[in-house]
Amino acid sequence: MMDQTEPRAIFERHAKAAVARRTGFGLRERRAALTALLAALDRHRAKLLAAMKADYAKNETEATLWEILPVQTEIAHARRHLRAWMRPRLKLPSLTMLGTSARLRPEPKGVALIIAPWNFPVLLALGPVVSALAAGNSVILKPSELTPATSAALKAMLADALPEDLVAVAEGGPEVAEALLDLPFDHIFFTGSTAVGRIVMERAARHLTPVTLELGGKSPVIIGPGADLARAARWIAWGRFANTGQTCVAPDHVIVPRGQEAALLAALKAELGRLYGPDPALSPDYGRIVNARHFGRLAGLIDDAVAQGATIAHGGAREGDRNYIAPTIVTGTTPAMRISDEEIFGPILPVIAYDDPAEAISQINARPKPLALYVFARARAFIRRVRAETTSGSLGVNLTIVQFIHPNLPFGGIGASGLGAGHGRAGFETFSHMKPVLTNRLSTLPLVFPPYNGRVRALTRLLLRFLR
Ligand code: NAD
Repeated sequence: MMDQTEPRAIFERHAKAAVARRTGFGLRERRAALTALLAALDRHRAKLLAAMKADYAKNETEATLWEILPVQTEIAHARRHLRAWMRPRLKLPSLTMLGTSARLRPEPKGVALIIAPWNFPVLLALGPVVSALAAGNSVILKPSELTPATSAALKAMLADALPEDLVAVAEGGPEVAEALLDLPFDHIFFTGSTAVGRIVMERAARHLTPVTLELGGKSPVIIGPGADLARAARWIAWGRFANTGQTCVAPDHVIVPRGQEAALLAALKAELGRLYGPDPALSPDYGRIVNARHFGRLAGLIDDAVAQGATIAHGGAREGDRNYIAPTIVTGTTPAMRISDEEIFGPILPVIAYDDPAEAISQINARPKPLALYVFARARAFIRRVRAETTSGSLGVNLTIVQFIHPNLPFGGIGASGLGAGHGRAGFETFSHMKPVLTNRLSTLPLVFPPYNGRVRALTRLLLRFLR
């Protein structure tokens, strides 16, 4: 844990170095930093995997696939495209701007604060670090206190990869985050809950620091009439129960045409057997809830739903001493239940029937804008309708979750699910100030400077006619 005075000292060193970095941290230096990060990730991979396992029994293959590989991809993508991203973009003039030349020049914002959650503790910490470095910033990273072994392993890896005045790690909980939020960072990239996102934005407002907020919420799945239920179940079961359901873009609940619930349930149960065997408690591929508080929260959601008449259609087993909750499917939920209102963020999947697509869509639209929405359908018209009549951070069609790792797609939420975007070029631009630079070559605009005599008035009339 870090001493409360330390954030300010680190920040001041970073702020000083940031000025020099405006000229001394070009394409070559940024690529070298990314290469050093990639090499350190390789050297420290085993330690990071062991730390995630120690923190919450995260399977090593799952962590390699969904934590390590996406960071490697992000680095490789940034290295490959950095020259093009950094290049000033030529902008054409309008009529009145004839005689000038316009360029959009990306420049580093300066010192970035990255606050990361625990649920993908490596990916969601290092992904934004890659974008910040690519854009020429220095970073103070605050990983989550709920995955302490991984936070310590990240700190060791980053100290091994890069100088502390380029990337520093501030370990600790909300108190450290709050101390950091007192400082005038040039950008804050926060990934976490909507409630804490609100605090971060309020605190950032004091310094007018721009923020990117990658938040959570309920991401629904809507199944169209006549969808391929086996295929849908394969993606939904994996998306919901991977990482023990603790994934921001996981399907939160499924809405399915009435009459197809039983077939979907059967397909989901078959999938769960395939993914985690007859007893998921014994499967090395199925993890644990991160801590006792979240275990209690999830157990409370199930108990509240059952007490109000919901049915556990599958799973339901739990062991408090090991923070284990079996993959659980519930039916018969109603809007009054807590499970229908709060982001579930765990291995519980409500399956809800709808009678009419219009009603299903209006239920989605009545809630805060989701981080992700998923539609499973064969009929293009149904997919088009869901796409056109709803809004969400991203839309997945006949798949779940993997839109998050497409290197050429920005990722972010909208409304209550977030503000701004990260990944690839979008991440680079988030951490850059896209500075417009307009240079006078032979501008004719002095022709309309005062005094506003007859000639200027005639030119003005001409312009009005042309620009109509
Ligand atoms: P959280 O909001 O509790 O914590 C996130 C980070 O904020 C942690 O580092 C924590 O120490 C810090 N923090 C806590 N209190 C703070 C305060 N008062 N001021 C400043 N910082 C503070 O979230 P979590 O439990 O770690 O993560 C789960 C949530 O994150 C879920 O809602 C999930 O949907 C969301 N999430 C979103 C994305 C995304 O990309 N949109 C990704 C992962 C998780």
